[in-house]
This record gives sequence, structure tokens and C-alpha cells, in this order.
Amino acid sequence: MPDYDPNNIFAKIIRGELPCHKIYEDDRALVFLDIMPRAPGHALVIPKSPARNLLDVNPDDLAHVAKVAQRVARAGMKVFQADGVTVQQFNENAGGQVVFHLHVHVIPRKEGVPMKPPASEKEKPEVLADQAKKLAEAMQSV
Ligand code: AMP
Repeated sequence: MPDYDPNNIFAKIIRGELPCHKIYEDDRALVFLDIMPRAPGHALVIPKSPARNLLDVNPDDLAHVAKVAQRVARAGMKVFQADGVTVQQFNENAGGQVVFHLHVHVIPRKEGVPMKPPASEKEKPEVLADQAKKLAEAMQSV
């Protein structure tokens, strides 16, 4: 497996070199909206420590990411009046991974509404800003 690349796009977001629509942050994790959501409220949960994916992440960081992902799923259910949540996580090119910093997709789902294909459409920044604000508020009570 290749080494971790500190110049991947999510590492730049962690360092504040690129913007994101932030939902939640603590000392070990960051959550923001996917810019090409597969459904409204599609969030990404990442560890702040450098990890390429599930294969090399520190287990304690992985456990923390899972705990935060649970809260993000609950917040998404609430904000989007969702009927369910899809959680996805891809590893290496063959596993469908495109950005090589570990991330967990948390996608609120409505009954009978299919997800859009990956990377099919960029959401408007104002829509993402509004959704991130609502999700950030909901994170405080889940
Ligand atoms: P994957 O590595 O296959 O799990 O997919 C990477 C995900 O990152 C895709 O869903 C992209 O839409 C998303 N993505 C790529 N660049 C950004 C960005 N700058 N901000 C938020 N999400 C992004």
C-alpha cells in the first residue's frame, strides 16, 4: 500500500488550506459535508491524524471516528426527517476510494429515494452552508 500523502485534499482541509462546510470538530475528528452529495446531508467523518484508510488507521482513532459517525447519523435523521442512513467507507483504488485520507460517508436516506451516482453533481455552496449549520446545531443534542 502506498504511503500517506500529506497533500491529499482532506489533509489540506484539516490544515485549513482548503475550505469546507464544517458540521463538527473535536481534537481527533472533523466532520463536513460532501461537495457532491449522493443525498441531502451527505457528510464525511475523518480522523485528524494521518491515515490513508481502514488498513493503516490507528484503532483508537477509528473507534473515535465510529463514535462521531453515530452522532452524525442521528443528527442527519433529525435534520432531514430521514427514514434511514447509509454508511460507506472505501479502501484503496480497487475498493472504490478516491481521496486517500480515511473518511466515513454518512448519508441520510428517504424511503424509496435512490442515491445519486458518486461525484455526479456539485451542490450549491449556499445549500451546503445552510445544511451544515442545521447539522452542527443538531450535533449538540444527539
Ligand atoms: P471516496 O474516496 O470514493 O470515498 O470519495 C471521496 C468523496 O469525497 C466523494 O464523495 C467526493 O464527492 C468527496 N469530495 C471530494 N473533494 C471534496 C471536498 N473538497 N470537500 C468535500 N467533499 C469532497
